[in-house]
Amino acid sequence: MMKGSIKLGKIFGIPLNINYTWFVIIVLVTVSYATVTFPAQNADWSAAGYWLIGLLTALLLFVSVLLHELAHSLVSIARGTQVEDITLFIFGGVSRITEEMKKPLDELLMAAAGPAVSLLLGIILGIIALITPPESIVASITRTLAIMNLGLAFFNMIPGFPLDGGRVLRAAIWGVSQNMRLATRVATSIGRAIATLMIVGGLLWSVFTGDWGTGIWFVFIGWFLENAASQSYTQFVLGEMLAGITARDIMSESCPTMEGDPVLQTLIDQQVLGEGRRCLLLTREDALAGMVTQHNINRVPRERWSSTTASEIMTPVNDLKTVDINDSALVVLRKMDVEDVNQIPVMDAGRLVGMISRENVVRMIRQKAESSL
Ligand SMILES: [Zn+2]
Repeated sequence: MMKGSIKLGKIFGIPLNINYTWFVIIVLVTVSYATVTFPAQNADWSAAGYWLIGLLTALLLFVSVLLHELAHSLVSIARGTQVEDITLFIFGGVSRITEEMKKPLDELLMAAAGPAVSLLLGIILGIIALITPPESIVASITRTLAIMNLGLAFFNMIPGFPLDGGRVLRAAIWGVSQNMRLATRVATSIGRAIATLMIVGGLLWSVFTGDWGTGIWFVFIGWFLENAASQSYTQFVLGEMLAGITARDIMSESCPTMEGDPVLQTLIDQQVLGEGRRCLLLTREDALAGMVTQHNINRVPRERWSSTTASEIMTPVNDLKTVDINDSALVVLRKMDVEDVNQIPVMDAGRLVGMISRENVVRMIRQKAESSL
């Protein structure tokens, strides 16, 4: 889940989240509709009318964004690739699709589905706006939404990875060359070039026209695109390096086990933890009770080490986030990120068989990088 997001529920079985930045944009959009767009189009509405219809239109705009994301997600599921969740945030929405598509055609269909839905919505809403009386509330709302949906379709079809258009381009190059790495590299380069153009163009526009509002907006979007492009590329390279590697290949021996409930000072004195030893498993009558890590101990002030027992600070077995021995290294890494932990126990058929720390993963990446030189 994106940081700073709240869960809203599920739609077609896909968890739907709203990022806090979404609230910022909904306020901005409502304000701009209520104070600029609608007063310019309809002089005779009441003040409350502008705000109510402004808010309604802003909410419908996000229904449009949601439909765009649902199109990506549902096509992805139909082509056999899992969707983790959908998050609405300041720039619209993201569907988190955990694995790379396996075939160029799947990627192409998945990427094109979102803009296709936005385009279709834009056309349908545009037709409604044209056939209803131009001064009516329905015409005002549908006209505004039609323009936004068409804008959404066009913006997303900019051919720079990771935008939808960039994914379509990548799928096409991938299909022709049968080389996904080359396709990703080309699509990312185009994405970064467009981002740079937007930043430079936005700055020049601001300087020469004095219209900083529009200029800065372009700089902002360009900066966002540049970030997204380099991040997705890193993610892709990482995925390629770790391909075929499972938890089994990178885990190290399990942590030492201790029966009973010692105080922290004992653990330190007996060097059970500290000095490169990172974790300890506590058992009670041979069953696993929980795990104590260096991280847990660091949160207890030194003067309380002799009065705090391990079980008071351990992560109980039921709260322990684990991975399966057959999980891919990328899944392991992602889980550590999501749970914000530096090490994660590895389970095999309900039995704890090892630990993976971030260093294990980094070491594997380094080995891979060196062997590919
Ligand atoms: Zn999209």
